Amino acid sequence: MLCERMPARDYDAIVVGASFAGLAVARELRGNVLLLDRNEVGAVQTSACGTPLWVPESLGVASSVLQVHDRLMIRTPTRTVCYDLSSVPFCTFDYRAFCQGLLAQCGARFLRTSVSGIEDGAVVTAEGRFTAPIVVDASGWRRILTGGSLDQPGARHSFGLETHTELRDEGLTFLLDRRLIPQGLGWIFPVGRGSLIGLGSYVGRSKLNPAIEGLLREHGIASGSYHGTYFPHRLLPPTVDRVFAVGDAAGQCLPLTAEGIRPAVFFGGECGRIVQQILDGALSLETGLERYRRVVAAYHRPYRLLQFAQWMAASTPTRWFAMVTQVAAMRPFRAGWWPRYGWFGRPPHSGAVVAA
Ligand SMILES: Cc1cc2nc3c(=O)[nH]c(=O)nc-3n(C[C@H](O)[C@H](O)[C@H](O)COP(=O)(O)OP(=O)(O)OC[C@H]3O[C@@H](n4cnc5c(N)ncnc54)[C@H](O)[C@@H]3O)c2cc1C
Repeated sequence: MLCERMPARDYDAIVVGASFAGLAVARELRGNVLLLDRNEVGAVQTSACGTPLWVPESLGVASSVLQVHDRLMIRTPTRTVCYDLSSVPFCTFDYRAFCQGLLAQCGARFLRTSVSGIEDGAVVTAEGRFTAPIVVDASGWRRILTGGSLDQPGARHSFGLETHTELRDEGLTFLLDRRLIPQGLGWIFPVGRGSLIGLGSYVGRSKLNPAIEGLLREHGIASGSYHGTYFPHRLLPPTVDRVFAVGDAAGQCLPLTAEGIRPAVFFGGECGRIVQQILDGALSLETGLERYRRVVAAYHRPYRLLQFAQWMAASTPTRWFAMVTQVAAMRPFRAGWWPRYGWFGRPPHSGAVVAA
């Protein structure tokens, strides 16, 4: 056993970040695992928490669901396109309940502490240094263990900001309007009681409060507290030296729609199962790292397609993009892409094919 050969403070595996990606990794692991986060699990929400309903269901945290959505409206200044989501319904969920539910499935030891990096193979934290043969970076866009000087905000990051409002159910809505946000999109996500209203800038613009306040004034509603952060829109290396990177730390958030939850959960699950095989002695660390790189590489093409669509949304006249979304919503076209998008990341054992 690895832990028997090591000093008392050492672990079989260390996972940094206990949000979507880190919890998805940790719930796959048995053994002596340390899960680190600077915040209590589920305490600091950065996301609107909109995802296909099968995500919380397949993870056993369906009780976190706040509202189910059977349609999506895309509103532009010239037209509104309605997407029928009934074949793959979406939902909004409670972040704390979702994360606490996943934590309850983990055998790992959780420690609340801030991580500053990795030095001589040890993870350096405010509580001291910890070592393990396997380390996973699930620390989000900052990539605490795997980042580098290229990680300047805005370089390949979007920025999202949102606020909780009293707005009653207007349906799941995306807003494409250059007057509201020049290179980005807005959203209204009903969450049971009220709605989250936000804006995302594809070019990493972070001063979005004035535009959100203007939008709220149009609806005659007041803002609540704001939350937001950067998120990547380009795949980044899934391994750096001997460290696995998952979720936003590996740039796995989907371009265009900014859906980062299910990629984090999907690649987190894949990474966790590979790490467990390494712990079981069925794979060497090198083979495990290579296997994880291959899993991620299989999705490069769909990511590039979505990146192109994001470029179109940001750079072509809105009415062109609105026309494309309308054509894409038509039944014969939708049948070609929607199931692949909607089922992306669904575990194979739950009855659907994972689209690549
Ligand atoms: C405003 C907004 C709305 C969004 N809405 C949606 C949505 O509706 N649906 C969707 O699918 N995606 C959405 N996204 C994207 C989604 O939130 C991210 O892609 C997703 O959170 C990535 O998960 P993650 O676990 O990789 O990273 P994160 O959720 O960012 O988690 C990283 C974790 O690491 C911890 N951490 C960071 N640094 C340190 C450190 N130094 N030491 C210790 N711990 C650390 C953090 O505390 C955090 O818990 C949204 C993003 C934003 C900004």
